[in-house]
Parts: sequence; structure tokens; C-alpha cells
Amino acid sequence: MLNLVLIACVFASLLTTHLSVAFTSEAWQAGVAKTVITPDGPIRLSGYGGRDKLSQGKLTDLFAKALALEDAKGNRGLIITLDLVGIDRELSKKICAKLAEKHKLPRSAITILCSHTHTGPVVGANLIDIPANITPDEQKTIDAYAANLVERIQSIAKNAFDSLEPAELRTGVGYATFAVNRRNNVEKDVPALRERGRLIGPVDHDVPVIAVRSLDGKLKAVVCGYACHATVLSDYAISGDFPAFAQQALEARHPEAIALYWDGCGGDQNPLPRRSATLAKHYGEELADAVDAVLRAPMPLVKPTLRTSYAEIDLPFAKPLSRDELEAQAKGADTAARRARHLLKALDRDGKFPAAYPYPVQVWRLGDDLDWIILGGEVVVDYSLRLKHEHGWKRTWVASYANDVMNYIPSRRVLLEGGYEGGGATIPYGLPAPWTEEVEDRIIAEVHRQLDSTK
Ligand SMILES: [Zn+2]
Repeated sequence: MLNLVLIACVFASLLTTHLSVAFTSEAWQAGVAKTVITPDGPIRLSGYGGRDKLSQGKLTDLFAKALALEDAKGNRGLIITLDLVGIDRELSKKICAKLAEKHKLPRSAITILCSHTHTGPVVGANLIDIPANITPDEQKTIDAYAANLVERIQSIAKNAFDSLEPAELRTGVGYATFAVNRRNNVEKDVPALRERGRLIGPVDHDVPVIAVRSLDGKLKAVVCGYACHATVLSDYAISGDFPAFAQQALEARHPEAIALYWDGCGGDQNPLPRRSATLAKHYGEELADAVDAVLRAPMPLVKPTLRTSYAEIDLPFAKPLSRDELEAQAKGADTAARRARHLLKALDRDGKFPAAYPYPVQVWRLGDDLDWIILGGEVVVDYSLRLKHEHGWKRTWVASYANDVMNYIPSRRVLLEGGYEGGGATIPYGLPAPWTEEVEDRIIAEVHRQLDSTK
């Protein structure tokens, strides 16, 4: 009898040891944190030209959120989401250098994802030539906001890593239909076209979802994306547009969790119809419903392995304007004139324009079945459709507005068609020239290289 008890005790202790191994070293570790980044007072707004007054009040708060992950082998990753229009290269580098040093992270392990709200503040030098007539005091406020953002992100990253605990990750993909291809449908006709099932043009209506739960089943974080411009609203009240309402709804329905939103390849996608707070809230709820439908369904577990990769490739510029052409443009008072004045200063300083831009491409492979491609700039939907087609519809997610939002990223088709996404946006972004026809193939080739190298 004594022997039996002894055997039972040994067995029980072996079982406990085994379980504790399973629950720690063989699991993900996850930690989350968030902070409000709503500007303290009035500030100039980004996203659209023509709004040359300061912001007035707020419709929603803006947040920076962090999800820290560690896989079973100790590989770490940090997802930062920002309810902001975008982030420029210099500010992104400053944020990432501090995070990398403090948390001993390679650059590939940090990703900064923006919601692209058009009712948020000017962020550093992003979309530098959109705001007109910035006064020195307004510029001081913009600079202080960017400096504070760097600090706020450091603090949520620390809180997220400090709160790492064993967790499980599950994924799934939902569906929402309010994004409309804005190049192929006339905005005022959209309600009638939608009614008749006649909306045209490529779209990506997937709603990818990661659910992060602690091992007692408590939902800690829900990460979701959608390929759409956050442009329901266009007034002077600060807001995070539909993504903020989606995150608010998810956090209200799951009070123990934080919701993190990232924008997909929504460069040519608008939420239509639009222009009212009621619609922004409605689309937010629609997105939250799509996420909740995924959370209610069976979701496959993600094996605790994280492989990350990051590189900046040379994306060639087409031929820039000549000095004479820039000097002629600089005499005006519009966006092109502001850009020309910036570019002339750069030309005086450097003697020539760079031939290419250091464009960021990042890949995160989570477990064996999820490959998350993370691109800079405002990427049009052709990229997510092509990458899903080439790499597998189920396993491929494509984020854009990540790490550095320097311009639109047209596909070759959109570049040749022209228009704002095809090259016109080069002006508000302050760049010397549009991309060349190589843009799509260069980016896709680098994505495939990174997918191969992270196998
Ligand atoms: Zn945009």
C-alpha cells in the first residue's frame, strides 16, 4: 500500500513537473499595455490638406498600445499600434533605437503599426507638406507631441515586457464589407451601387484576428486588422475614426482585454459612405462584430515560435523635377509650392536628390501557419491580393502603414493608371519624385526573400 502511495506521489510530482514545463517553457509569454496619446491641447491636424486651423476638442481618445511576445525559445517580439495617421522614418528610427537598446531586441522584432486616422495630429515629419502656414508656436506643439510620443511608447513597451506571463495565441479571419475601392467607384454613387451589388474594383475584406489568452482562459489582447483608409471623418475634432470605435467596442465587450488595430493594404480603399460620427461608430461596431464572430468560432492554436525579419530595400525614384521647375513651383501657395521649397533647401544642402528610398519590408512568422508581411507606406490592395495568391490565402496577412509611412505604394497597375495613389501623393509626402515601374516587383521580391529566409 505504502508503495502504491509512493508511486502515486512520484507520478503526481512527475505530472506536475511536466505540466509546469508545458505551461511555461513550451508556451508563449505575452504582456500588454496601453496609454492615451490624445494631444493635451489644440494641435494642427494631418491627413487632409485645407484644414489650416487648430483641432477643436475630441470625439475619441487616441491610444498607443503594446503587445510583447516571447516564444518558447525566448525569441521576443514587440507590436506597437498607434491611433495616428502615420510615422516618418526619423521618428520611427528614434523610437526603435531606444526600444532595441532597452529590451535587447533586433530591429526585426519591433513593429510599429498605424491606424491612419485622418482626424489626428500632425506626427513629426509625416506628410510634411500637408499643413499650410504652420506658425512657430504650432511647430513647437508638433515637436513636443512627437518627443512625448517617443517617451510614451517606451513606457508601454516596458510595461508590456514587465507583465509577460504564459499565454496561448489563436488566430482566425473574419469579414467586413464597408471598405470600397475608391479609384473604381464614384463616392456619391456608392450607396446605390452597393444596393444593386454593383461595386467594382479590387478589395480585401478579410479581418485577421489574433486572440491572446492567459492560460486560465482570460482574454488579454485581441489584435485585428482591416484594409481601409480611416477617413470617415474630416472635421476638427480629434478622433481615431472607425478603428478607435472598433477598439472601444471590443474593449467594452471584453473588459479584461486590450484591442490593437492595424491597417492592411488600404491605400486605395475608403469606408463608404462616410462623413458622420454615426457612420464612424457604425463601421467600428461592424468591425468589432466581425472580430467577435471569429472569437466565438473555433480558432487554431499558434505554436509558440516567432521568426522575424526586417530589411530596407532601395526603392528607385523616377526622374525628379529640375531646379528651374522647382523654383517656378515654389512661388505658389499650395502643397506643391511647400514641397518645392523643402526640396530646394535639400538640393542646396546635398547638391542632388537621392536615387532611391530605403523602404522597410518586414516579415513575422508566428507558429507554422501564420506569415505576417508588414510593409511601409500606404500600400494599395493589389499587394495583399497578389501576396495571398502567391503565398497562400489562409496563411498570409499583409499590414501596411507600418514602421515608416513615406508615400503611397502603388502596384505597377496603379502607377501606370496614375492619379493620387499612382504618384500624386508624392507631393504632400515631400518626396522628390514618384516611384518607377519597378516598385511592385522590387517589394514582392524582397517579401519572398524574407519568407524564404524565415522558413
Ligand atoms: Zn492615406
